Amino acid sequence: MSVTQQQVLDSLSRIKSPRGVALTNANVLSTISASDGKVFFSINVDAAEARAWESVRAEAEAAVRAIPGVTTAMVALTAERKPGAAPPPPPTPSRGTPGVQPVHAHKPPQGGASPMARQSEIPGVAAVIAVASGKGGVGKSTTALNLALGLRDLGLRVGLLDADIYGPSVPRLTGLREKPALNDARKMIPLRRYGLAIMSIGFLVEEETAMIWRGPMVMSAVTQMLRDVEWGELDVLVVDMPPGTGDAQLTLAQNVPLKGAVIISTPQDLSLIDARRGLAMFRKVNVPVLGIVENMSYFQCPHCGTKSDIFGHGGARHEAEKLGVPFLGEIPLHMAIRASSDAGNPVVDSEPGGPHAAIYRAIAGQVRDQLKGVIAAA
Ligand code: ADP
Repeated sequence: MSVTQQQVLDSLSRIKSPRGVALTNANVLSTISASDGKVFFSINVDAAEARAWESVRAEAEAAVRAIPGVTTAMVALTAERKPGAAPPPPPTPSRGTPGVQPVHAHKPPQGGASPMARQSEIPGVAAVIAVASGKGGVGKSTTALNLALGLRDLGLRVGLLDADIYGPSVPRLTGLREKPALNDARKMIPLRRYGLAIMSIGFLVEEETAMIWRGPMVMSAVTQMLRDVEWGELDVLVVDMPPGTGDAQLTLAQNVPLKGAVIISTPQDLSLIDARRGLAMFRKVNVPVLGIVENMSYFQCPHCGTKSDIFGHGGARHEAEKLGVPFLGEIPLHMAIRASSDAGNPVVDSEPGGPHAAIYRAIAGQVRDQLKGVIAAA
């Protein structure tokens, strides 16, 4: 049974807002996305009002969940602070089924505190690392998955979180599409494939739906995917970050206790400039940059194996040296990587004895070496 926007609006019209009018007349609702029984929207209020609205968020989520045919309801409370305004009081964290929680629900910063004060470790997870890129289409997700598999091959317990809310690609790269089940504590149980614990916003929403999410909503969804998931005991959780270096990425880096970041770049100058921005962003939030990977570094002919430097290969290595960060390796542009990746058979898993798997494992080895202290301590 499909659920319409109108049905959602009808149920929300019965909820009273703190402004004394119906929720639907309070001018706070984002576009409502309703497809396939999954309903998503945000309530956008000023940060100073956030506490008063938390119960309304919970009420709205419960009301939507009660509509026949609704399988998933996620309502985010996004509280944007006006320039110069005092920080908002912490809202009461809500309980219950997975739904996007308020942006400030996890350790909100107190006045004057560093933004890093929001961070807290994920129980059972020794190291959370980010795989980032300055822009989309450079092979960030492909590299994140193969890096996770390389770490697995080194004997580590590894998870993969696809936090690329603007375009989650892990469902495509892994062939996984099921909705995660909930455990008794109502935490989502990550899906398992290739020996990895895998979670993606793409398991919860349609890809088109994810595209329309706004920054603050992205943040709360990602935070929740980290914390409302039963990750179990992991040595490394690899987070496939959204591309770019906007506010969304900065806030994410401030909220998530990252032990390091791997930056993916192609050799072209433009993407190197973007990669430099990524680097600056991680440094700003004190996340150690584990290194730069040059993806699509050179073209390798699938027939004769000849290498051609059609993109001015080596730019990232040079850039890494200049910036004083480790250079982790070069991955060729190769049909086998593309074809295996797009068919849900990442090359490290499908051709473990091949040359590409060896490259990813070598990169994973350098990452593991840099995380050794953290992993050993756990
Ligand atoms: P991003 O996450 O940066 O948007 P993806 O990982 O989705 O990028 O990769 C974009 C496309 O490029 C995909 O079709 C993927 O299979 C392909 N791709 C990524 N890395 C390589 C590579 N080294 N060789 C060939 N194709 C690649």
